[in-house]
Amino acid sequence: MLWVVSAVFVALSITDAHVDQNPALVVRIHNAASLTVRELTIAKDQVTVIWSREGIHIRWDESAASGREIGLDVTLDRSMKLSPLSSGRFALAVTHICQSDSPSITVMLATVERFINVGTSGERLVLGDSVIIRQMLIGRVVGRSIAHEMGHVLLGSVEHAREGLMRPQLTTTELFADDMNGFRLTAQEHERLRLLLSPKAEPTILSDGLLKR
Ligand SMILES: [Zn+2]
Repeated sequence: MLWVVSAVFVALSITDAHVDQNPALVVRIHNAASLTVRELTIAKDQVTVIWSREGIHIRWDESAASGREIGLDVTLDRSMKLSPLSSGRFALAVTHICQSDSPSITVMLATVERFINVGTSGERLVLGDSVIIRQMLIGRVVGRSIAHEMGHVLLGSVEHAREGLMRPQLTTTELFADDMNGFRLTAQEHERLRLLLSPKAEPTILSDGLLKR
């Protein structure tokens, strides 16, 4: 079998000049080789909606960015698999944050696809037989995984919350559902983000040297 490894390189930048004073993230995708256009569109859509609810405006843009910049690589990798965690849980994506490098996110597509195809209990999902629905589910799971990992980058923290976007564990039902209400930051996280991204704040986002899912 041929392993296909592909990467999406994303550069994030924060611009201050925005009508409502909220910072905007300008996300540039330089290369996306593995997901179909539809899957990638759905994934980007998920990220946009999830973060717009926190006051973060994301523009998917090819043009040069200005203002404070955070470089962020998002790699969609089909060859990488982490060992299962205790109780048979699998990581869908990881974030690497360290001082010397830009933060990077890796989405493990092999795990995502296994998750879509056979579910967590080994039962094949009926929905997975439809190409259209399968693409939609891949887009949702990839987008929601990226949005969670972006939370670690933006909040500068490897901490998890008991509810919302930054929970350490999400159920199949939540990752597949139309409903995105479970993918909000908590009030405390939202406030912390607002302070971190305020024009007065020092750029301390890249402060941790930790690998965490
Ligand atoms: Zn996490």
